[in-house]
Amino acid sequence: MNVKVRFAPSPTGYLHVGGLRTALYNYLYAKSEGGEIILRIEDTDQSRKVEGAVEQLMSAFDVMGINFDESPNNEGDCGPYFQSQRLNLYKKHVNELVDKGLAYPCFCSSERLDKLRKEKQTQKLSTKYDRHCLSLSKDEIDEKCNSEPHVIRLKIPDSESITFNDTVRNNVTFNNAEIDDQVLLKSDGFPTYHLANVVDDYLMGVTHVIRGEEWLSSTPKHILLYNAFEWDVPQFAHVPLLLNPDKSKLSKRQGDVAVEDYLKKGILPEALINFVALLGWNPGDDCEIFSIDELISEFSLERIHTSGAVFNQEKLAWMNGEYLKNLPLNKIVIHSKPFITLDINTEDEKFNRVIDFSRNRVSYLTELNDEIKYFYSHQLENHSDKALLSEASSQSLFKFWVTELSENETWTPETLKALISKTNDELGIKGKNLFFPMRLAIYGECKGPDIPSIYNILGRDEIINRLNSVIIG
Ligand code: GLU
Repeated sequence: MNVKVRFAPSPTGYLHVGGLRTALYNYLYAKSEGGEIILRIEDTDQSRKVEGAVEQLMSAFDVMGINFDESPNNEGDCGPYFQSQRLNLYKKHVNELVDKGLAYPCFCSSERLDKLRKEKQTQKLSTKYDRHCLSLSKDEIDEKCNSEPHVIRLKIPDSESITFNDTVRNNVTFNNAEIDDQVLLKSDGFPTYHLANVVDDYLMGVTHVIRGEEWLSSTPKHILLYNAFEWDVPQFAHVPLLLNPDKSKLSKRQGDVAVEDYLKKGILPEALINFVALLGWNPGDDCEIFSIDELISEFSLERIHTSGAVFNQEKLAWMNGEYLKNLPLNKIVIHSKPFITLDINTEDEKFNRVIDFSRNRVSYLTELNDEIKYFYSHQLENHSDKALLSEASSQSLFKFWVTELSENETWTPETLKALISKTNDELGIKGKNLFFPMRLAIYGECKGPDIPSIYNILGRDEIINRLNSVIIG
């Protein structure tokens, strides 16, 4: 079977990390099976439409490296499909169900439906629609259809229950008695989510529906629709909810939820993909770092968990740190540049050295400015430890190093240990007494990276300059 999956977001704004995970699982499954993934924008709820949302979504996927297959009408660039451009299809299909007696028009006003719901609530009865319009005669229906606003509802069959197989949850059963005669077509002629989703999944040849657990309760309705159309039902896989650390549903109130926010904070796309992949799935061993290709080869729907997955920000920061350390330097340099707010040259060899060093010391790209500023400016005037620089022992230390470094061009970061020993032998200065003033003089803080690392980044000439600038007289 040729696997075909889809990611079907409603364009209500940014890409949620939960949406990214659903899209990623679909992508991984499609790629691991040599199949296809399509992007379908479910934009039939006009009231929830947000300007620019689709562009934002597409650009987030672009950055995350998730590409979709297929183009509507087989023209031009791939994807997305827009449901709002397919309204006639939904109407045509719903009419078929009405003709077969499997769906019916309902003329009840929202006032009547509200009143009915409230009455049933007070009586503690099911708030389902009472099928008032099902008792209308054919003539009444024909007349009202031409003159009154109406919706089309699916007639839920009287059979007792519906069971379907879900790859994550095995067999899932719902009682038909709990399922309302759901609206398929709204009075404005737009389909509801249920109708458009099922019609499209069928027409687009979707074989596997991989989506969030919040859609599980919609699935029996979808299956009843497939049955009404006499279409084969796709395989379902509902992925667990994402949770805050206190186990409530992941919400904006307890942290960022938009992919864009994480990218802005300086999380690398590669790290976010890896982190999100492990929210609700694992390959069965302790391994935690996976490239996208490794994820593709390891991924299986069967290993998706049923229990909710906690979105742990500390773990994401740790994982980002791992990616910062281990991705090729040229990639980290490219990712870093947009985050640099210092007025420095980011195109030279020094910048590469600075990033290569600093990437081991930060968890977020936004932390880079604070980390690298010492390698670019050397302002000690207002430093609280400034007095240390003018102490006699510091001054003789600085002079000794300037002489040594100037006379001997061959000092390298690797051989600098020998200069440190020589300083001890000749001046009797060692340990803290050497490192604190030296680091303050060449780097700007008493504590920080080791002296050879600073030397490696700044180079001999700049070290000599910085030392000269603190030598008095
Ligand atoms: N439009 C739904 C959403 O916004 C799609 C759910 C599904 O995948 O069926 O997530």
